[in-house]
Formats: sequence, C-alpha cells, structure tokens
Amino acid sequence: MNRKNTGGFATRAIHAGQKPDPVTGAVSMPIYAVSTYAQTAPGENTGFVYARGQNATRFALEAALANLEGGASAFAFASGLAACDAALALLPAGSHIIAADDLFGGTVRLFDRVRGPAAGLSFSYVDLNDEAAIAAAARPETRMLWVETPTNPMLKIFDLEKLGKLAATRGWMSVCDNTFCSPAVQRPLDYGFDLSLHSTTKYINGHSDIIGGAIIARTKELADQIKFIQNAVGAIQGPFDSFLCLRGIKTLALRMERHSANALAVAEFLAAHPKLERALYPGLKSFAQHELARRQMRGGSGMITATLRGGLQPTLRFLKSLELFTLAESLGGVESLIEHPAIMTHASLPAETRRALGIDDGLVRISVGIEDADDLIADLSQALNRA
Ligand code: PLP
Repeated sequence: MNRKNTGGFATRAIHAGQKPDPVTGAVSMPIYAVSTYAQTAPGENTGFVYARGQNATRFALEAALANLEGGASAFAFASGLAACDAALALLPAGSHIIAADDLFGGTVRLFDRVRGPAAGLSFSYVDLNDEAAIAAAARPETRMLWVETPTNPMLKIFDLEKLGKLAATRGWMSVCDNTFCSPAVQRPLDYGFDLSLHSTTKYINGHSDIIGGAIIARTKELADQIKFIQNAVGAIQGPFDSFLCLRGIKTLALRMERHSANALAVAEFLAAHPKLERALYPGLKSFAQHELARRQMRGGSGMITATLRGGLQPTLRFLKSLELFTLAESLGGVESLIEHPAIMTHASLPAETRRALGIDDGLVRISVGIEDADDLIADLSQALNRA
C-alpha cells in the first residue's frame, strides 16, 4: 500500500503524487523554469518535449489536486476563469448550459459576453434547489449543469447528491465550482460530478500571492479531453506559481480547520450583535440550510455574509474602522478580508438583480482568516461600535 497516496487527507495534502527530486533528492519539488527539453534523436525523448505540454512542477501540483479531489487527473490553469473557459471548450457549438442563478460575476461575464456569442453556447440561470425549474429549463441541446455551492455572496447551498444524480440521469456533464470550499471541505466528484473546478487563487493556494485555476476530472475519458484543451489553448499555470500553489496545499487541511473554526466563532458573535440584521454562515445552527451543509461539507469553510442595520453610511463607517480585516476583493487567504459586494465584487450586476439576490447596501462579505479568533472578534466589535 502506498500511504502517500492513500492516507488521510492531511497526509495526502503533503505527500500525494510527490517524489524527491531524482537528481538531488530535494524533498520539495523544484521550480522547473524551462520552455523546452533536449532530445537524444528526432522523436526520441523522455516524454518531456515542450513545457506548455509538460512541466514537472506543474505535474506535481496536478497530481496533488487529482488525489485530494478524488479524480482521475487534474489540470492547472493560469486563473480560475481560464479553468472555467477550458471546461466550456468541452462543448460543441449550439450547446445549452443550465447554471445556478447565483454564480461568481466573472463566470457569468465569461458565459454571456464571451463564450455565449463566440462559441454559440446558451445559458439558463436557475434556482438549482427547484427541480421543477430545472426540468422547465431543460432542452434537447442541454449538455451541462454548472453549480457553485455555497454561492457568492448569499451562501446558498445546492444539494450535490441530488444534482449529481439528476445530471447523470439526463446525460448532462456536471461541473461544480468548488472554490469556496476546497477539497478539504467538500468533494463534488464523490457525488458523481464529472468536473470539480477551482480558482486556486483562493483556499487551495491560500496565501493571496498567486492567480491560478484548476479542473479535476472524474474519468480518464474527460481527463484526456481537458489535457488536449489545456495544451491546445495554452492557458497553463507557470512553474513559479505551480510551486507556490503546491506549497500552499501542504497546509490545506490545517488551514481549512482553522478557517472553519474561526468563521463559526465570528458568525456566532455577529448573529447575536444588535447592530446586525442577520449573519449567514453554513455552520450556524440558525442557517436555513444547515442540515444540508452539514451533510455535504466538512466544516463550514471561512465565508460569512452579514447585513448591518441602517444601510450604507453605518456600513461604510464600520468598514473604515476595521484594523485586522483588510478591505479587498478575493477570499480564501490566511489573512482576513472584508468587502462590500454592492460597490465592489457585484457592482457589475444590474441593481434589480442585486436586489432580487438580497445584495443590499448594508451587506458585507467576510473571508475569515486564520488569525486568533479573539482578535478578529475584538476588531469587529470595536468597528461595530463606531458604525
Ligand atoms: N470561481 C469563483 C467562485 C470565484 O470566486 C472566482 C474569483 O473570485 C473565480 C471562479 C475566478 O477565479 P480567478 O480570479 O482565479 O480567475
């Protein structure tokens, strides 16, 4: 038995797919900064020919990701959106995709303004907890179901087991953007999903120092197609960023435990605070979909969405008064971040859509880091006093 690849999650996060460097025995994967490889005779080579197709540092990252998500293979891309784009490239022109109605805005922009018009794809945005709505949206040319759970920023949870089965029954390829969880918290392929997809920029790398993406394919057949697309389109993760991401993964299990524990403590504090109208966190017992979250997530991850009473002005005063929480877009790093979706990440959505989703002027999205929970709560408390 190879415990490096079959042990518990924390063991595999450190060892899966990793071997000491064959030349020096270096225990960490070196950065192979190279574009091409020497051949002994025309067509005679080591399997490493040109670095868009083969890079040992990227391969080590991909092996770790495939193992942790339980897939046949993984592919690392230059960004999360490049990974989304590669998944869409699996579909022939004319395909229809049923997607969740509360997706990351950049994904919707890619769908509606790039691949929709350029590749002849069409999209229906549906509440994926409503089976009748999915059935009503289905068309003969539907080929893909695209899920994000929990959603951003409303933290709506979709039932992966039900959706995985539904997609398989209908013959649709199923894709889950697992960015908000990482495989330490949720593993979509275990529910029959065909692809798990990440902005590795977030929890997987975890240190806010790279932009990256990944697709993990459940079957070899799909993996072969994505490998072809990755090389043919070329939006690969470079060796330096692959190295950083791989280093980040070594602490993924530890980090996600701490993110979840800190976020639960912060959410409990916020939910009880009189200046807040509500605090949403899947780990809270008061969270409407807590039971479903408990079933498919291991811990609640680190994302909280909260609404301050009184609208924009007190919310801006609160945001300006924080010391430990940095006002910034993105999420999933070791440091705590906070942002105002209506003005920042979700400003591109029409005001009507924002209202329908519940993204009002008092709403903030918090990415809880791995600092001491007491310090985070003290900082939120003093800033709320100034709100
Ligand atoms: N998917 C989700 C859920 C995201 O939050 C993001 C980025 O915020 C992306 C995809 C896109 O990733 P990237 O910014 O790495 O291109």
